[in-house]
Amino acid sequence: MSSLPTRPEILLRLDPELRFFVAAARRSEETRVAVDGVSSLGHVVESLGVPLTEAGPLLVDGREVPRSHVPADGETVEVVPVERPQRVPGAPLRFLLDVHLGTLARRLRLLGVDAAYESTDIGDAALAARSAAERRVLLSRDRGLLHRRELWAGAFVRSDRPDEQLRDILGRFAPRLAPWTRCTACNGTLRAADKATVATRLEGGTRRTYDVFAECEACGRVYWRGAHHAQLAEIVDQALAEFGEDTA
Ligand SMILES: [Zn+2]
Repeated sequence: MSSLPTRPEILLRLDPELRFFVAAARRSEETRVAVDGVSSLGHVVESLGVPLTEAGPLLVDGREVPRSHVPADGETVEVVPVERPQRVPGAPLRFLLDVHLGTLARRLRLLGVDAAYESTDIGDAALAARSAAERRVLLSRDRGLLHRRELWAGAFVRSDRPDEQLRDILGRFAPRLAPWTRCTACNGTLRAADKATVATRLEGGTRRTYDVFAECEACGRVYWRGAHHAQLAEIVDQALAEFGEDTA
């Protein structure tokens, strides 16, 4: 008597928060996943569509295992989302945003969060290399980019709406907020500037109306409380109310 060997498989329990990453057929509470006895659990999870940047500890039969664990037939694997706030060890918290996240980059800078941004598409390899070289958390809505091994750290930005994106990132990483200290155009830091020093860079109307200025140490752009101030102040006030230090 002989029987056909059964294909080894695991029982996967994906946290509801992570289910939208996987194919519709796998969005139930438990799903059976075939394994090959060679691939790591990290690879198995990733190949289902879940970026590892989004996964917290991996549990096998209730015990935490490293991502290199090779799952065996019959194991029950649980995948939970990364902890919030997420700690990124080893460097001051700073970000790198891909070409699609310009508005989010400017809003983070408005709040004083170090947010480098590539306004042209330099390609996945170059972005990942910059993340590694400058130890920046790469923010992207591109899962392929987040799969790259060389990333320092990364996060999938869930919404395509800038206000929701901002809340997502502030809630996830809890960066220290220092509004009005950073250039929204280039990410440089601002310093107070004399009216006399910046006068030649201002329009006549601005020169007559305003007395308090700041300038970017990197690009020289001059800032004052002008036409867009109320709108920007509202973004700042909302962020401070929800994520400022007093409420942390
Ligand atoms: Zn600047």
